[in-house]
Amino acid sequence: MSNANHYDVIIIGTGAGGGTLAYKLAPSGKRILALERGDYVPREKDNWDPRAVNLEGKYQTKEKWRDNNGEELHPHTNYYVGGNTKFYGAALFRLRREDFGELRHHGGVSPAWPISYDDLEPYYTQAERLYHVHGERGEDPTDPGASAPYPHPAVSHEPRIQHLSDDFAKLGLKPFHTPLGVQLNEQDPRKSLCIRCNTCDGFPCLVYAKSDSQVLCVDRAVEYPNVTLLTNAYAERLETEASGRRVAKVVVRRNGSREEYSGDIVVSACGAINSAALLLRSANDKHPRGLANGSDVVGRHYMGHINSILMAISKCPNPTVFQKTLSVNDFYFGSRDWDFPMGHISFVGKLDAQTLRAGAPAIAPGFTLELMASHSLDFWLTSEDLPDPDNRVTLNSKGEIVLSYKLNNEEGHKRLIAKLESLMKQQTKCELHGHECHVGLFSRNIFVGQRIPLAGVAHQNGTIRFGDDPNTSALDANCRAHEVDNLYVVDASFFPSSGAVNPGLTIMANALRVGDHLIERLG
Ligand SMILES: Cc1cc2nc3c(=O)[nH]c(=O)nc-3n(C[C@H](O)[C@H](O)[C@H](O)COP(=O)(O)OP(=O)(O)OC[C@H]3O[C@@H](n4cnc5c(N)ncnc54)[C@H](O)[C@@H]3O)c2cc1C
Ligand code: SF4
Repeated sequence: MSNANHYDVIIIGTGAGGGTLAYKLAPSGKRILALERGDYVPREKDNWDPRAVNLEGKYQTKEKWRDNNGEELHPHTNYYVGGNTKFYGAALFRLRREDFGELRHHGGVSPAWPISYDDLEPYYTQAERLYHVHGERGEDPTDPGASAPYPHPAVSHEPRIQHLSDDFAKLGLKPFHTPLGVQLNEQDPRKSLCIRCNTCDGFPCLVYAKSDSQVLCVDRAVEYPNVTLLTNAYAERLETEASGRRVAKVVVRRNGSREEYSGDIVVSACGAINSAALLLRSANDKHPRGLANGSDVVGRHYMGHINSILMAISKCPNPTVFQKTLSVNDFYFGSRDWDFPMGHISFVGKLDAQTLRAGAPAIAPGFTLELMASHSLDFWLTSEDLPDPDNRVTLNSKGEIVLSYKLNNEEGHKRLIAKLESLMKQQTKCELHGHECHVGLFSRNIFVGQRIPLAGVAHQNGTIRFGDDPNTSALDANCRAHEVDNLYVVDASFFPSSGAVNPGLTIMANALRVGDHLIERLG
């Protein structure tokens, strides 16, 4: 292989993990190659069109996976520079301090991590700065504590959300402002990149104001002469030296042809499902079950959270434009009447009729989809699913990804839904429409529940877990493969447990942490 194809570090994938790592390593002067199977998201009006994005799935991969019955699965995932952060809702949470230890759930045990909250804390602070997180420290009753305030003030609530927040507070809860990575300047709107629109969660940001890893990390990294990005470059396989102890080649399919690259360090950051698939595809004589898979954990313990969208529909319209500003964590670890963790309550972006059409929900009596969309508060509920070795990514004989998953630990989630239902029944009366509306608001509040299906792999994690024991984990505490000296994984794969808040900030913080380790290792 020519020297031109040799790099100090090869990073495969440019999402939350890979993009952040490229940014971190760029100033080191090391020769870095970033390989991304996708292209840039085209900038076009469709970026903000609910029909194109949600109904037609214009930007989703057309790749087909299989479920464990062999049925086709159309994953809701995105292959672009910036990965899924191009489409995410940018709710950027730290895991709770307790999430790093062992936690007893109703459905079993959520295992401990090999690092503590304090090990990751400085990197959470760096990640919050890098991704412009807006929030108010200390409001969240389960806040794990931090060494610095949020870099930007919390994003304000619109009146309907403020009203709901006040109602929750009157009921004794501690509602708080969702930490959000949007480059919004409410004090000086003319200077604000973000225009606070209704097409953020699930949509790419047409004006590049969302804190995604393309805009904030990859675009900056490639300004360094030592960083090369190849798009449409699909990493097909990793080949090792004869000893099996080092990755010798990254085999890439780019524009129809096969290319080979080598790196002193090779980092897989393809997302939890695709990184597992890459290692499984790279099986060889020395690694018969898949690369770095002597433990047989690669692909196993797939987690994706138990997520539900719940619409609370009332007689009064909900004119909120940017809805994702409010969260409730009072039931994260349980409640007075239930000793086990339940999870996290927050919002999705304001739903519209096109988006509802894509999900084909049950229609509330007397409502059309348009009416439902304009009258709903659209909650997002997340509970922790537990790592089950049989929930796993495998490959079938055609090399297609097979995702097998059986939901677990559901009782806490059901109770979280019941808590929200009960809270919504206790809202104060509507000032606009008087008692009539008050009756409508309460007695006719209807919840239309939709559990996110298997194809909803947005929060995928856990498939290449890190740990101290090579028998039960594939990566060590630095996210280096126990069995392959120059192989690292820095996407959501490393999670031994999933917590119940969105995973993005933890992936970013960990990439910064591993970045420090790599800089030290490379000298
Ligand atoms: C609609 C939506 C909303 C979300 N909202 C939130 C939120 O509000 N907060 C939050 O924290 N999280 C949210 N998430 C989840 C968040 O986006 C992910 O947790 C995060 O992006 C995962 O980071 P990653 O590095 O593991 O993988 P990704 O970001 O998916 O990046 C993986 C990259 O690898 C590339 N790749 C894959 N295979 C290969 C290969 N073989 N060769 C080369 N390149 C490859 C992919 O194209 C992709 O660019 C959301 C996700 C979605 C889809
Ligand atoms: S302008 Fe702001 S609210 Fe709209 S998509 Fe961009 S970051 Fe999100």
